[in-house]
Amino acid sequence: MDRVSALEQLGSRRFDLLVVGGGIIGAGIAETATAHGLDVALVDRGDFASGTSSASSKLVHGGLRYLQMGDVRLVREAHQERRYLMNVVAPHLVERLPFLFPLYHDGPHKPIVVRTGVLLYSALARARLNGRVSQERALHLVPQLRTDRLHSSALYADARTNDGRLTIENVRAAAARGAVVLNYAAVTAIRGDGADVRADGQDVHVRAARVVNATGPWLDHLRLLEDENAVPSIRLSKGVHVVVDGAEDWGAAVTIPQSTVRVSFAIPWEGMLLLGTTDTLHEGAPEDAGVTDDDVRTILDEASVAIDGFSREVRATFCGLRVLPGGPGSTANARRETVYSTGPTGMLSVAGGKLTTYRRIALDALEHLGVRNLDRKPRPLPGAIGLSRVDWPVELDPATRRHLLHLYGSVAADVVAPAREDPSLLEPLVAGRPDLRAQELYAREHEFAVHDDDVLRRRTTAWLADISRVAA
Ligand SMILES: Cc1cc2nc3c(=O)[nH]c(=O)nc-3n(C[C@H](O)[C@H](O)[C@H](O)COP(=O)(O)OP(=O)(O)OC[C@H]3O[C@@H](n4cnc5c(N)ncnc54)[C@H](O)[C@@H]3O)c2cc1C
Repeated sequence: MDRVSALEQLGSRRFDLLVVGGGIIGAGIAETATAHGLDVALVDRGDFASGTSSASSKLVHGGLRYLQMGDVRLVREAHQERRYLMNVVAPHLVERLPFLFPLYHDGPHKPIVVRTGVLLYSALARARLNGRVSQERALHLVPQLRTDRLHSSALYADARTNDGRLTIENVRAAAARGAVVLNYAAVTAIRGDGADVRADGQDVHVRAARVVNATGPWLDHLRLLEDENAVPSIRLSKGVHVVVDGAEDWGAAVTIPQSTVRVSFAIPWEGMLLLGTTDTLHEGAPEDAGVTDDDVRTILDEASVAIDGFSREVRATFCGLRVLPGGPGSTANARRETVYSTGPTGMLSVAGGKLTTYRRIALDALEHLGVRNLDRKPRPLPGAIGLSRVDWPVELDPATRRHLLHLYGSVAADVVAPAREDPSLLEPLVAGRPDLRAQELYAREHEFAVHDDDVLRRRTTAWLADISRVAA
């Protein structure tokens, strides 16, 4: 469906559900609602996944820190979701990754405490990979591990993903089941029978039995559109990441202890090294959050606690905002629970939570909306089935095939199919990255990409080539 038809349908149909916000939570709710037979509209004022959901640490994880906070239930649930995502929902996008936890003599943790925690964490994960590893094995996994004053290292398993693509695939799954989805479509007013949406210079009133507010950091903005007396319900914490060259030969990520309550990560991701994150209170408008020189310096310094001789030449940076329940106290300690609330017109607001548990959050949201007989079993996203039987329509080298299979799963064959007629589509999208021009065509025709940035940042990995330098 093109944008003109989508806008026309938004203005003329009556939906069971209007989902506002196309991050992982809104996209997941739309996917789940359509799977339960609901007539759904999904709008985002920017691109899908342009908020927090392409700015996370890319981990699909139980969350070792939640264990430290005593939240065993949260960890167990998150591990179960990780298994569902890795095995059924998106095995192409969610990959198992070992994590090395180095313990230094001058570090904040007692080794025995961490090793016990890792054992419990691994038991909850039903993983065999756990416990203490020799320095030799640690260096084999992470050749740049700093070893002076290293006491020992623990090893456990989690997973990594491409958060932007995971979100887009949920949007696609919803659209494939008949949802009307439109990006660059902002909700400007909430009314009892739906909401006003502005897109492409037009205003339409979208009628819907229920509205879900899944706007993440903008949650209170939407609540104020519903009720001008709504009191603030959330706090925002800024998390910055930095991407540098490296980690090609790493077999594990590194969890770097920074304090008794904080760790940072060094993660091999999309052929680069992803470092982060920070955790600082953000008090301005969500769109004003940005990356400062101080943030970058902090991240590089914190990485050097455990990594030696990595490149300090920054390829890319990004920042996202965690949504935390309102209230006093440090943001690092704040609980990462999801909070549901219903406003005076019946709008359901869904705040907080993790990328990892998006499926569960979506199901719980539908439960709050009164949807009965929920099917909680995991469903494959587009491309998740037939990964080992892809019939490639054109010749590709093994590295390119691997890259496409990772991003699209078995749909990768459709992405490159037009190259049979136009071989120039097999040329690189940008120099220095494995993405192809065929991916841009596919993004614009099948994945709702409107602007160059939508293609480069959220549907491909081209932005990691440092687009500003490529463009110059
Ligand atoms: C630094 C950081 C690291 C993280 N790392 C991890 C991790 O490794 N693993 C993990 O599981 N979780 C992680 N998380 C948490 C996870 O990223 C978030 O829980 C998740 O992305 C939130 O998704 P969302 O859909 O609620 O919000 P968002 O992705 O921010 O989506 C909200 C959307 O609403 C749209 N919107 C706003 N106002 C309007 C309007 N008026 N009309 C229409 N649309 C509107 C926005 O454009 C936006 O796209 C991390 C979070 C941060 C900040």
